[in-house]
Amino acid sequence: MASIREGAMQADITELFDPTSRYAIGVDIGGTKINAGIVTYELFDPASNYAIGVDIGGTKINAGIVTYEGEILLSKSLETLAGQENTVHRVQGVIQRLLEGASKLWPDIRYRGIGIGSAGQVNWQEGSIRHASELIPGYSGAQLRSILEQQYGMTVWVDNDVNVIALAEMRLGVGLGKRQFICLALGTGVGGAVVADGRLLHGAWGGAGELGHMSVDFRGIPCICGARGCLEQYASGTSIARRMRERLAARGKPDEQVNARDVFALWQAGDPLAASVMDETIAALGTAITSLIHIFNPELIIIGGGVAESGPQLVDRLRQEVSRLAMPSFAEGVQIETARLGNWSGMIGAALQAWEYGKQ
Ligand SMILES: [Zn+2]
Repeated sequence: MASIREGAMQADITELFDPTSRYAIGVDIGGTKINAGIVTYELFDPASNYAIGVDIGGTKINAGIVTYEGEILLSKSLETLAGQENTVHRVQGVIQRLLEGASKLWPDIRYRGIGIGSAGQVNWQEGSIRHASELIPGYSGAQLRSILEQQYGMTVWVDNDVNVIALAEMRLGVGLGKRQFICLALGTGVGGAVVADGRLLHGAWGGAGELGHMSVDFRGIPCICGARGCLEQYASGTSIARRMRERLAARGKPDEQVNARDVFALWQAGDPLAASVMDETIAALGTAITSLIHIFNPELIIIGGGVAESGPQLVDRLRQEVSRLAMPSFAEGVQIETARLGNWSGMIGAALQAWEYGKQ
């Protein structure tokens, strides 16, 4: 029991609950954070091999040991502390703790490699960060693959965060069995991924699918990227909150606190101001999705991120918009669905790269 408790100390949380399985509770008490989690043992199969998936975001880094079926054996989360700490060091730290925890629980565990899904623009060929915004200062140019391969002696794959979510949805989620689909992740910003002929589209260096900066209005709202009318200016949670605050201020009711979730709640309750904000969001998304349907001829559009949780009417309205705007021959049969895999899909999809691109 002592060794179980020691090993479990490293765990944060595991995803899957199996009522027939045995669990142990692990508590990790640190100077700033206390993490408690549940670890299961029956998932481990010594004859199998596993991959490490790491999801690097502006606020959190999640790392986990993941099976081919997307089950999480053990996971560890760390705040990114962007701007305060070196992000690569934080990533190394979380992988180290994960490996130490796993080797105590399962000394004979074998890994296929480490898959990374990261915020920022990723050079897919090099496994490096081509550019990261001020969201993660000092992260641009980080040579993740070469640093981690050297340190751990494992193969490392690096892709952007939305591409790995699309990979998870393709292998385990709503994209199962689909070879042509598009993912839109509507969160703080808007990210995208394109799957064509069963493969993720990477482009010349890995930047393909930056759908948040597809313009839906050449006279539209100026965007941080320098262009105008980018989808992100209408469909991100940040922009939804900002446009609501602007409308409130114009009516002499400034509210600095209003966030996207408040707008969704007001929208559900029939508030006309929130409805006007969301009408604009739906119009922009409908325009963008229609263009994407004409360009890529997909069979499925997956809507993910926090904005996708605003309620079922978002997807219903998008279906109506697309059938109104797209050429009927193109719109026919295109499914628009919300993502299925939830918060851990970035970490799971990151790990799945080991099977997608690794040698059999
Ligand atoms: Zn832009």
